[in-house]
Amino acid sequence: MIKTDANLNLLNSHITALIKKDIYLNRIIEKCPTCESKHYIKYGSFKGIQRYKCKECGKTFSNVSNSLWSYSKKESTKWIKFTEYVLERKSLRFCAEKLEISLVTAFYWRHKVLQGLNYESVPSNLRGDVHIAKKLIPENFKGSRNITVTVRHNIWVVAAKSGENSIIVKPISRCHWHLPSFNKKIYYLIDEKAYIVPYGDRYISLVAKAHNKRRTKEVLNDKIIWSFQIILEKWLKKFHGVASKYLEKYLSLFILFLTKKEINYMEIFKKLSLENRFIKTYDIVISNINPIGVAL
Ligand SMILES: [Zn+2]
Repeated sequence: MIKTDANLNLLNSHITALIKKDIYLNRIIEKCPTCESKHYIKYGSFKGIQRYKCKECGKTFSNVSNSLWSYSKKESTKWIKFTEYVLERKSLRFCAEKLEISLVTAFYWRHKVLQGLNYESVPSNLRGDVHIAKKLIPENFKGSRNITVTVRHNIWVVAAKSGENSIIVKPISRCHWHLPSFNKKIYYLIDEKAYIVPYGDRYISLVAKAHNKRRTKEVLNDKIIWSFQIILEKWLKKFHGVASKYLEKYLSLFILFLTKKEINYMEIFKKLSLENRFIKTYDIVISNINPIGVAL
C-alpha cells in the first residue's frame, strides 16, 4: 500500500532542510565557537551542512553553529513565519497558537529575533540635515520580580533622522538628560558638517547650537520627527507596554517600521540566521525575568 503524506510533513521537513542548506552554504566560519581558535579542519557533513573539528580543543561545530538554528530543532518555515509575525507585531499568544509552539518558546524566539534586528537597524552615519526629537516614556517593570520601587522615572528616548532611511531611535538615559550617553549612542553618528535641527527640547537645542556653530538655515520640518512622540506612543501601545529593559530592542523594530515600506521577510530572516550575535536562551534566563510575565 502506498502511504500518503496528507499533512505534508515530509514536504515541510524537506523544505526546512533545503532552506537551511541554502542559507548556510556560503557561510564562512572564522573561528571555533568554543575556544576561538582559527585552526580547524573540515569534518564531513550532516544533512548537507558542513561540519568542522577544532584542532585546538577537539570540539566539532558546523556552519549552523552560533546562529538561530543551533538552539532550535523547529522547522525553518516556522522561524520564517515567526519573524514575519514579530515584524507585524502579533502577540505571543497569536504566534504560539498559529505555529503550535509553547508560549515560553515564543517568548524566547521574539527576543532572538529582536536581538538580531538590533544590529540591523543602526545607520552608518547621519549627514545633511539631521532632525532630532525626544520622547519621555515612563519606566515599565513588566515581568520583573521583587520590584520594590515606588517612583517611576522617565526614560529619555531620542530619535535622530537624516534623509529617507537613516534613522536611529535609542533610549539614552533614565530620569535626566545625560549628554555623555547621548554622545555615545547618537551623536557619534552625526557627520561634522551636518546641520542639526532640534524639535522642542532645550537640551537638544543646546547640542544643535554647539554643533551648528553660527550657521543658521531654513529647514523644512521632517514629518516623522515632527510627530515622533505621537507615532512612538501609538506604536508601543500595540504591545500593551514594553518592559524598559527591552525597550532598546523594540525600538529597532520600530525603526524598521518607520523606514521599510516593503519588508522582505525572507531577506531579514536570512540575515538573522547568519548573524553570530544571537543570545542564547540561557542568557535570557539569567537576567532573572519571568518569561510568561513579559510583553505578551
Ligand atoms: Zn576550539
